[in-house]
Amino acid sequence: MADAPLVYNMKQILNYINGALQPPESGRFLDNVEPATGQIYSLCPDSDHLDLEAAIKYAQAAQQSWTNTATEKRARILSQIADLIDQNADRLAAAETVDNGKPITFSKAVDIYRAAANIRFFAHAITQFSSESHSMENTAINYTLRDPIGLVGCISPWNFPLYLFTWKIAPALAAGNTVIAKPSELTPMTAYLFSELCIQAGLPAGVLNIIHGRGTTIGAAITTHPAIKAISFTGGSQTGTVIKKATAEQHKKLSLELGGKNPTLVFADCDFNHTVQEVARSAFANQEQICLCGSRIYIEQSIYDHFVNALVDEVEKLNVNDPLLPETHFGALVSEAHMNKVLFYIKLAQEEGGQILTGGHQVHLNGRCRNGFFVEPTLISGLTNQCRTNQEEIFGPVATVQSFKNEEEALTLANDSMFGLACSIWSQDVNRCHRLAKQVEAGIVWVNCWLLRDLRTPFGGTKASGLGREGGQEALRFFTEPKNICIRYG
Ligand code: NAD
Repeated sequence: MADAPLVYNMKQILNYINGALQPPESGRFLDNVEPATGQIYSLCPDSDHLDLEAAIKYAQAAQQSWTNTATEKRARILSQIADLIDQNADRLAAAETVDNGKPITFSKAVDIYRAAANIRFFAHAITQFSSESHSMENTAINYTLRDPIGLVGCISPWNFPLYLFTWKIAPALAAGNTVIAKPSELTPMTAYLFSELCIQAGLPAGVLNIIHGRGTTIGAAITTHPAIKAISFTGGSQTGTVIKKATAEQHKKLSLELGGKNPTLVFADCDFNHTVQEVARSAFANQEQICLCGSRIYIEQSIYDHFVNALVDEVEKLNVNDPLLPETHFGALVSEAHMNKVLFYIKLAQEEGGQILTGGHQVHLNGRCRNGFFVEPTLISGLTNQCRTNQEEIFGPVATVQSFKNEEEALTLANDSMFGLACSIWSQDVNRCHRLAKQVEAGIVWVNCWLLRDLRTPFGGTKASGLGREGGQEALRFFTEPKNICIRYG
């Protein structure tokens, strides 16, 4: 098979501050590695407080004018950015695949499609956003103003680089805020290309500022800067805790979308073939680097053996290969460190008594991907619910199977976790589905489907999976400050 072509020569990524692309003040850059090859292919700014101070100065200068810009005009500029994403979809998808390691077909159909959809959705949503009024019969009328907060910070992870980046900045900008945004230092490329599109679309200077760099330096500086009034963060639960503590004394408004270890509940009365396919997808899509992936698979005892055999067959159909090839289902993990973390958990699972049903090894490809970070999709049985493999978020291609006797036990197993992000239930019994959906501890429940998203719905988790909700009106409410005004009738 011919090697897929290299997409980029070494490229220097730049910060986007005050409407212009510029290197970091310090002149320092971080190496940016292509996960499929293990090679450094671009350089990411290693920004620091000097870049942040400059961005804050320009964002503050732009604030009043952006807040006072007619909603319809803000919506028009955002729609123009969404159109430019569509027009550049192939280029952006290729860049996402090179930067992240995910299959090119996935980048195009999911990541880049959704990045444009996010922006278009909030461009429309802001034109329909309204606030409440409450009448106290003949005594008084209350009305609630929802004004933009001012300057806000948006920090996003590497698993859906442009998709999750736009999921935050679109509602923030639509609501009239100015934004300092930081993408993950592991996957900065599409946010950089996005800044070029913002310039092309005529987004006024200073309204959005994108600063690249490390979480512990520029990320921490964004979260603790007193001029930044709210933080919308997506990332790991441990980082969420650090941000909560760091911002506590400033009483900053926080939206935290954190980790998951999501249960999948398969009942004997499920639509068998469809469920096998969807459970495999929910476990291993995007190399299982989705916070919503179902990595704890619980199967009713009476169909356990039959279902597990079919699931193994389904998982073994996944083609692990160069992510730039269109026939690839399963690409590289995002970094060498992350690959080593996943391999550590596979070894740990075996020490904990687990049996590997399929997978379990690093994949060594030939050709241009010979030094890439590939791991087989791995299914493990024979573990207790309490072991580390089943309690800690691996965020890589490792899923476990366990059996349950009845609905009550399925619910107990599902809720036996510090996380509470998502759950999927597979059964034809509508009453059971309603009962379980209500009792399961998760912010999102899918019944006979997975990852079916309506952008109007609340998105987020409970317990260690987060604080607050994104999506639809929830996001616009987060990025505005409600003020109630009570007027007594004369
Ligand atoms: P991470 O927490 O390491 O980093 C996320 C972002 O925060 C990056 O931009 C990073 O540079 C920055 N950061 C790191 N330390 C920081 C600090 N002290 N202060 C401020 N910023 C800091 O997470 P990751 O490894 O990039 O992403 C994987 C995690 O994200 C997983 O736990 C996954 O479940 C979670 N995730 C959650 C959702 C959701 O919607 N709930 C979606 C996607 C990913």
